[in-house]
Amino acid sequence: MPLTPEQQAEIDELRSTPRPTLRAVSEGMESHLYIGHEVLDHGLVRVIDYMGDDSAITQAARVSYGRGTKSVSNDEGLIRYLMRHWHSTPFEMCEVKFHVKLPVFVARQWIRHRTANVNEYSARYSILDREFYIPAPEQLAAQSTVNNQGRGQVLQGEEAARVLDLLREDATRSYDHYEAMLSQDGQQGLARELARMNLPANVYTQWYWKVDLHNLFHFLRLRADAHAQYEIRAYAETMCQIVKDWVPLAYAAFEDYRLGGVQMSAKGVEVLKRRLAGEAVTQENSGMSKGEWREFESVWG
Ligand SMILES: Cc1cc2nc3c(=O)[nH]c(=O)nc-3n(C[C@H](O)[C@H](O)[C@H](O)COP(=O)(O)OP(=O)(O)OC[C@H]3O[C@@H](n4cnc5c(N)ncnc54)[C@H](O)[C@@H]3O)c2cc1C
Repeated sequence: MPLTPEQQAEIDELRSTPRPTLRAVSEGMESHLYIGHEVLDHGLVRVIDYMGDDSAITQAARVSYGRGTKSVSNDEGLIRYLMRHWHSTPFEMCEVKFHVKLPVFVARQWIRHRTANVNEYSARYSILDREFYIPAPEQLAAQSTVNNQGRGQVLQGEEAARVLDLLREDATRSYDHYEAMLSQDGQQGLARELARMNLPANVYTQWYWKVDLHNLFHFLRLRADAHAQYEIRAYAETMCQIVKDWVPLAYAAFEDYRLGGVQMSAKGVEVLKRRLAGEAVTQENSGMSKGEWREFESVWG
C-alpha cells in the first residue's frame, strides 16, 4: 500500500481545487497530476508538476510568438522530423517533476541518469518506513545461464518459498535492529544517519525527480527496454503511459523512432543490401563479430 489515507486525502484536496491559468495545459497530463500510480509492492510514481505540451516543442522549433501552429498534422510532421533527425533541443522545452517511491537498489540504477534534478528523502533527518521490496512469485527467477546480467527460469515450490522466507526474515530483522538502535528504553539512541547503515538495498526510499522531455526520453529508451532490470522497467513503463498522455505526438514519434526503431551500423546496412541483392550472407563473411551478428539476426532474421 504505497499511500496512507492521510497522503491520499492531501492528493484529493489538491485535485479538488483547480485554478485557471494562461499557461499551456495538456488535458492528458492534467488527468495524472498528483495521482499516485502504484509500482511494485510499495512503490509509486506521481506527477507533481509539468511545463509545456506538444505545441511547446513546435513553438520552440519555430521560435514563434503565439502558439505558432498551422494544424495538428503540421505539428505532428515537424515533431517527427525533429525526432528523426536528433534535433533534440525543442524537446528540452517541456519539463516534468515526478515524485517516485522506489527500492534503494532501483534508485542506484536510476541515479546514474545525471541529467535530472533530484531531491531525496533524508534518512539522516527522518526515520525510514518499514517497507521492503519483496518480488512477486513470477519475478523470483534464477540467474540466467546465457545472460550474466539477467534472469532465467522462475523459481518454483520449496526453492521459491526458501528465498522468500530469507528475504522477509532479513528485512524484518534488520528493521527491528534499526529501530532498536534508534531508541533504547525510550532514551535517545544512535543517530539516524548511522542507524540506517544496516538496512538492506530493498528498503524503499523516495525522491522528487525533475527532468526535461529530451532526457526523459533517453531514460525511458534505456529503462523501458527489455535489457533493463524488471524492477526499474516497471517504473519506466508507468512513466511511458504518463508521457503518452502528456505529449501524444512526441511520444508517438519516440515510440516509432526510438523504442520501436533500430540503430544500424554501416556493416549492417551493407549486409542488408547484399541480402536484398540475393546474396546468402553469413556471420563469417559479414565482417561482424558473433555478438553483432546475433543482435543483427534477432532484428532481421
Ligand atoms: C541495461 C543497462 C545495463 C547497465 N549496466 C551497467 C553496469 O554494469 N555498470 C555501470 O556502472 N553502469 C551500468 N549501466 C548504466 C549506464 O552505463 C549509464 O550510466 C546509464 O544508463 C546512464 O546513461 P547516460 O549517461 O547516457 O544518461 P545521463 O546521465 O542521463 O546522460 C544523458 C546524456 O548526457 C550526456 N552526458 C551526461 N553527463 C555527461 C558527462 N559528465 N560527460 C559527457 N556527457 C555527459 C551523455 O551524452 C549522456 O548519454 C547500465 C545501464 C543499462 C540501461
